[in-house]
Amino acid sequence: MTREMQIFLSPKDIIGIRFECHGCHERINVRFPSDSKFLEEFLCPHCHQQWFQGNFDTRLGTIRSFLNSFKDLRIKEFEFDISFEIASPDDLQASSREEV
Ligand SMILES: [Zn+2]
Repeated sequence: MTREMQIFLSPKDIIGIRFECHGCHERINVRFPSDSKFLEEFLCPHCHQQWFQGNFDTRLGTIRSFLNSFKDLRIKEFEFDISFEIASPDDLQASSREEV
């Protein structure tokens, strides 16, 4: 017998997002609805390491786009449910074997 476990999270199960600076390893936890105005400073709010090259840094656009889309997923009604599948320990082992 094989037993397989799958874990799914809905967007409403996810209550926040964490940013961890590569420079100082400070963790900034943002709860939804997010107030991510600190990203507009383009710097780590703790050590001031530059995170983005300015307003036109495409990586900042990626983060903004993700946060806006994720906010919509949490509040808009759809005719279906969306869930994110979380990797199981077996998935993680399989992916680490693939990377070798
Ligand atoms: Zn930092």
